[in-house]
Amino acid sequence: MTYRILVAGFQHETNTFAPSKAAYENFVRGEGFPQMVRGQDLLKLREVNIPAGGFLLEAERLGYDVVPVIWAGASPSAHVTQETYERIAGEIIEAAANETIDGIYLDLHGAMVAEHTDDGEGTLLSRLRAVVGPELPIVVSLDLHANVTEVMLEQADAMVAFRTYPHVDMADTGVKAARLLDLRLRCGKLHCAHLRLPFLIPVNGMCTLLDPARSLYLQLAQLESEDLSLSFTPGFPAADFEECGPVIWGYGLHSQPLNQAVTTLYEKLVSEEYQWEVPLLLPDEAVQRAMALAESAQRPIVIADTQDNPGAGGDANTMGLLKALIKHDARNAAVGLIYDPAAVQSAIAAGLGSVIDISLGGQSGVPGDSPLRGRFQVTHLSDGRCRFEGPMMNGMDVDVGPVACLKIGDVQIAVSSSKCQMLDRTLYRLAGIIPEKMSVLVNKSSVHFRADFQPIAEHVLVAKAPGPMTADPADIPWTRLRDGIRLKPNGPVFHH
Ligand SMILES: [Zn+2]
Repeated sequence: MTYRILVAGFQHETNTFAPSKAAYENFVRGEGFPQMVRGQDLLKLREVNIPAGGFLLEAERLGYDVVPVIWAGASPSAHVTQETYERIAGEIIEAAANETIDGIYLDLHGAMVAEHTDDGEGTLLSRLRAVVGPELPIVVSLDLHANVTEVMLEQADAMVAFRTYPHVDMADTGVKAARLLDLRLRCGKLHCAHLRLPFLIPVNGMCTLLDPARSLYLQLAQLESEDLSLSFTPGFPAADFEECGPVIWGYGLHSQPLNQAVTTLYEKLVSEEYQWEVPLLLPDEAVQRAMALAESAQRPIVIADTQDNPGAGGDANTMGLLKALIKHDARNAAVGLIYDPAAVQSAIAAGLGSVIDISLGGQSGVPGDSPLRGRFQVTHLSDGRCRFEGPMMNGMDVDVGPVACLKIGDVQIAVSSSKCQMLDRTLYRLAGIIPEKMSVLVNKSSVHFRADFQPIAEHVLVAKAPGPMTADPADIPWTRLRDGIRLKPNGPVFHH
């Protein structure tokens, strides 16, 4: 028989401490994700490195008849507005109620908080379950930064998460979800096991190009088999609710090997707790170290401006690292992308080659940050349209709105009209900057930039300039975490 499978995607990573909420228009634009699509247009995502893309390809191979509903994702930010959540979730639930289907695949993030629900994914899954009944298979793919909840684990038949950060395996995870659905359809309900870790992990510590994450995921893959799937989500430590934090889980046809594998991973993680901590430099330290390293380097020194990462809820306009570059008179340096549409408009109005006197950035109003008042030369202008060439979102068409390159001292600043994490070198080229030829690059990103920049970087440093995405979870003013969890590896314990 041919199975009919409903396919939908609804992705948002919510930083409940971030300055701006996610509205419907943010999902329409996509903002670094594909733009919102419905019905047959969703099938075009086959070409894109996102979970739904991989799922669609594998579904075709498995001979499924696909019912595409909607795919909607927006840049990480504060809460998804209630209206937006209800509109998009409502479309998925309505389709599930009206179509005759044998299963559901959802491409979710796993760390969505809406204005009216802490557990965006759990709420969606519960409502779907209420409509389709307890027997219809529902399989989900998740981001590595998911905060997996008990409700999600109860309501889904199976969930599988990315195991790379930078996320180069997004489409592969969709393929894994399709195979889990296949297993579920062939063999019936699967056993599930899960364990929650007793500490939060800073995002910079989750990078899978480095240990301990690299070896953890290697072992995870070794413990898997044909009928045993494992996932580990270190979580998104910027969502203030009880179930924020890392979770290990899995599914299998047999409970004993499954429980054994989940326990093995848990014990490894707990015994290596201290390894998940990361050194973070202050802006002056980062810039001075980068300049010293650059003196003998053949390739750029890259500084991650992690606390203003628009991929984690930042607005990409804090000025701390840029000010440090100017203060220390950094040579041959570049910064990108700074999101400041008004500055771009000033540059366009003045024209290429002109000098403008403006206040750049600083609009987030983060304590310790302020605009940079200065004279900038307009050295490049473009329409902000490109196609990503790096490994993460290869082939994706991107439109960040008009872009200007502003030069101050020997620092070139790529300024854009919409927010986009620096996860592809092409974004610098939009501003006429050749990243490979720079001595120091400051990227508005936490880890994703490594996919495309590590191959050209001599060194990577991680800095914490004042910004909305607090890199050290122990610095966050938590109010609603679960009692007893440590705020970072070997860190202070949270109590109500
Ligand atoms: Zn992620």
